[in-house]
Amino acid sequence: MTIGIVGAGQLGRMMALAGYPLGFDFLFVDRDAQTPGGQVGLILVGELTDRHLLGQLSQRCEVLTFDWENIPVEALDGLPGKSRIAPPLRALAAAQDRLSEKRTFELLGIGTTRYAPVDSRASLELAVKSIGLPGVLKTRRMGYDGKGQFVLRTPRDLDRAWEALGKAPLLYENLVPFDAEVSIIAVRGVDGEVAFYPLNLNVHRDGILRLTRAPYGNVAITRQAQRAARKLLEHFKYVGVLTIEFFVRRGKLVANEMAPRVHNSGHWTIEGADTSQFENHVRAIAGLPLGSTKARGHSAMINLVGEMPTRDTLLAQPALHWHDYGKAARPGRKLGHVTICDSTWKMRDRRAFRLLSSIDHATWLAIRKSR
Ligand code: AMP
Repeated sequence: MTIGIVGAGQLGRMMALAGYPLGFDFLFVDRDAQTPGGQVGLILVGELTDRHLLGQLSQRCEVLTFDWENIPVEALDGLPGKSRIAPPLRALAAAQDRLSEKRTFELLGIGTTRYAPVDSRASLELAVKSIGLPGVLKTRRMGYDGKGQFVLRTPRDLDRAWEALGKAPLLYENLVPFDAEVSIIAVRGVDGEVAFYPLNLNVHRDGILRLTRAPYGNVAITRQAQRAARKLLEHFKYVGVLTIEFFVRRGKLVANEMAPRVHNSGHWTIEGADTSQFENHVRAIAGLPLGSTKARGHSAMINLVGEMPTRDTLLAQPALHWHDYGKAARPGRKLGHVTICDSTWKMRDRRAFRLLSSIDHATWLAIRKSR
């Protein structure tokens, strides 16, 4: 069976690397042949919206999936050929637009931020009046890694926020004074079988994920996250991996956003779980039984952002796993990650913080300050 992946970034590459041992082939579509996916599979080069190219992909593959959730749904709908698309386009559409995403959370009774759509300077004023300050103004579409966001703290910020983002449809929401950020990675098979990974505890800086530790959390908080994930999976008759990111506030979860795909906060599962999120995504979309999502000990994943540290020094550490995506270095760009696994959370944390202080000193300092 050949699996088509729209987008050949690092997520696509890790999906393919997990899927080859299961006996699958992979074919990508991407704008650029020099992408992480290109190191491990053939790429049809062209725009991700090119119907002709996507049609070719659909005719050459049994299943289509994606490594980026912002591909316009219209480009994927009704392609020639017999390929199935998973996850379903309805989930992709909901996750692409922050307003539809919030409405889906509300519809399903999943607690989220207070929010209001904003499409004019006057409606921004109204939104700030009803929701209050501080708050975050976000573009409804194409936002990722904190891009397209503006935090408003005083009424004077309205003009600057509007100037920065006012050209696109927006959403305003309250700034949550969270105690922690967590995510859940869930997977649903073609036959409706559902599995959950343990919760991830995430640290972002400048909107970019820097550190994930797992497993995290007590039974109560895990149940809340699983309930939310199950509702979304059933609502969409979902197939594949789905991620939800939450703020934790006084023991309650507030949904921030969902991603209809494998997720950066689940990279630790490659070495730290019985079956990785990538393998389970491939299993799910190919109609295979799901693998165990159980954690093997305690893991920490640190993103390598902007520049790569010295590989050979880090590899001298025991049970450290190095992932280089083969991308050109650029400030703020995710170039790779490292994962460490240990038998206790205390040991894991001690090693993770020591590593973080050498790889990403600014995040380490921010964590220390917030303690
Ligand atoms: P997002 O792209 O919405 O996931 O936002 C990136 C990061 O910005 C989040 O992981 C949070 O750290 C922060 N953030 C976004 N929205 C809010 C909010 N409403 N309240 C507090 N922090 C937020």
